[in-house]
Amino acid sequence: MIRRTRKTSEWTFLVIPGAGRSVTQLKFAAGTLAVSAALVAALVGTTAAWLIANFADSERQIEHLASRLAEQERSAAEELAAADRTIRRLQGELNDLFVRAAQIETKLAELETLERQIRVLAGEGAAANDAGGASGTTRFGGEGGAYVSTDRLDSRLHGLSARIDEIRGSFQQLEDVLRKTPSIWPVRTRTVTSGFGVRLDPFTRKYAFHNGIDIDGAAGDPVFSTADGLVIEQGRNAVYGNFVVIEHTEDIKTVYMHLLDAAVKAGEPVERGQRIGRVGSTGRSTGSHLHYEVHVNDEPVDPKPFLSIKGREGRDGR
Ligand SMILES: [Zn+2]
Repeated sequence: MIRRTRKTSEWTFLVIPGAGRSVTQLKFAAGTLAVSAALVAALVGTTAAWLIANFADSERQIEHLASRLAEQERSAAEELAAADRTIRRLQGELNDLFVRAAQIETKLAELETLERQIRVLAGEGAAANDAGGASGTTRFGGEGGAYVSTDRLDSRLHGLSARIDEIRGSFQQLEDVLRKTPSIWPVRTRTVTSGFGVRLDPFTRKYAFHNGIDIDGAAGDPVFSTADGLVIEQGRNAVYGNFVVIEHTEDIKTVYMHLLDAAVKAGEPVERGQRIGRVGSTGRSTGSHLHYEVHVNDEPVDPKPFLSIKGREGRDGR
């Protein structure tokens, strides 16, 4: 119960607890009461402002967390998709590998068959049968199916690569031999005016042995070395005119005569197709042509079979 007392500047509060208990009086000056009310109002206001500020802050934090969550969900989904793509790619590669392994298996089987056939042809029948039996048992025995043992594949690939090395070595030897074997025409023209062997000598009109072939050519046409080799002689005399002798191997030499001039000197290495001089009519000659000889073990042989083993022209282009 609140009652205003005699003076307007003072407020009295009466607290009445109940029957049989004394009443308590609380007196306050009006100023004090106003200050208290103002303090309470300020406290309530500040608290409300703090609560509102905090609430707004929390809302912002919630929004931020929600957006981060969405972002993480998005990136997780992207990672999942990428992982899925990787798995698909790897599965594809694995399939390819299986297909390739099967293809290699087939090729190896073909090669083994071929090897056995070659051994048989080469007269190694017994050995071929033994070898064929060993691998044949695993191939055509009770196993069956498309299963490819990697160990077996490895060992056979190893064997195959050794054989390929062997074949490559043989090819290199063969290539070396070929490079040193006369195998192209020594001039661009293809007209043989006089062959190898016994013929009527154009000067004496008697039968005589012609050590080489005469190939028609215009004065100044390039003359090429017909194989890799070493110039062992270059000179001039009354019969040969200007001439060049090239040694290709211990056994094989070629001779070029009646040249207008020589472009190489004794001691000079030459390659097949290299220009070594020009067609002329020097020495014992009736007109411009090239006299070409091939010697095997220091005996002249018919150069015709050596003319175009390889269909290669001279490299000195015109
Ligand atoms: Zn001749």
